[in-house]
Amino acid sequence: MPTVPASFARLKLWGVRGSIPIPGPATIRYGGNTTCVEVRADGEIIVLDAGTGIRALGMALEKEFGSRPITVTVLITHVHWDHIQGFPFFIPAYNDKNQIRIFGYDGAESGIREILKGQMATPFFPVKLYDLPGKIYIKKLQKMEFNIGKVRVRSKLMNHPGVCMGYRLFTTTGSVAFLPDNEPYDAFKLHSARSHLLSPEQTKKRAEAERAGLVQFLERCDILILDSQYTDEEYQAHVGWGHGSLSAGVALALDAQVRKLVLFHHDPTHDDAMVDEMVKQARALVTKSGKVLEVVAAREGEELLLGQK
Ligand SMILES: [Zn+2]
Ligand SMILES: [Zn+2]
Repeated sequence: MPTVPASFARLKLWGVRGSIPIPGPATIRYGGNTTCVEVRADGEIIVLDAGTGIRALGMALEKEFGSRPITVTVLITHVHWDHIQGFPFFIPAYNDKNQIRIFGYDGAESGIREILKGQMATPFFPVKLYDLPGKIYIKKLQKMEFNIGKVRVRSKLMNHPGVCMGYRLFTTTGSVAFLPDNEPYDAFKLHSARSHLLSPEQTKKRAEAERAGLVQFLERCDILILDSQYTDEEYQAHVGWGHGSLSAGVALALDAQVRKLVLFHHDPTHDDAMVDEMVKQARALVTKSGKVLEVVAAREGEELLLGQK
């Protein structure tokens, strides 16, 4: 990373795509790798999800650190493949000088350790997770608030199939919220266990309460990295798929008085021109609201500073 004032927390986007990697000329500007964001704050290196973007991050870290040991904490939101499939190619895990701590919550039907081990088990991968030379430590999270060094982390269950978390990181120079996979509550579609047993009236009430809780979770956040996979029209055909729509995302960020909204988890069918168009539409919605909110689309390779107004 280029030199920036040490007092600023820095974010680097290594993978911004949802579902599946899609390299090629149509995605050259925004990038084709799946979810991975690096946060450098208060002396910590925190990696948010281990999609295919983590491969290039690993190579960059090895280049930067050389023979010095690397200590990173990887925070997993959930174990859908686009959020973990890059880990077997994270080169620091192949060197015993490095320590890699992986934090995540158990999935709906299996533990975080078993799932991460599973994707590297025979016949899927030639090297087993615990045969990697790096010092790998997997921690099952249970609390909804914890520290990584001086960085305070709050977790919240997202509206997404299975167990999926959103994280808000409080650094000394501001906070960033990472909600890569989340369906808006506006269509009253709930993914939580047993939600199918609720009456329509109870579902509506629950959805409204959940949305209010989410607004509170995000309140006055400096940077919100949010699932914005679908346009509003596309969302109508994908209600219940667990992903965000543009206007619901903008409304959420406005209600929570977020400073900067980063559209994230781009749909694999969206080329660069389409992502540009979505930014345009989102900015038009902000203008229409009469409020202030900066909107950008996540772009692979881009750096964002926390603490810079
Ligand atoms: Zn995803
Ligand atoms: Zn997912």
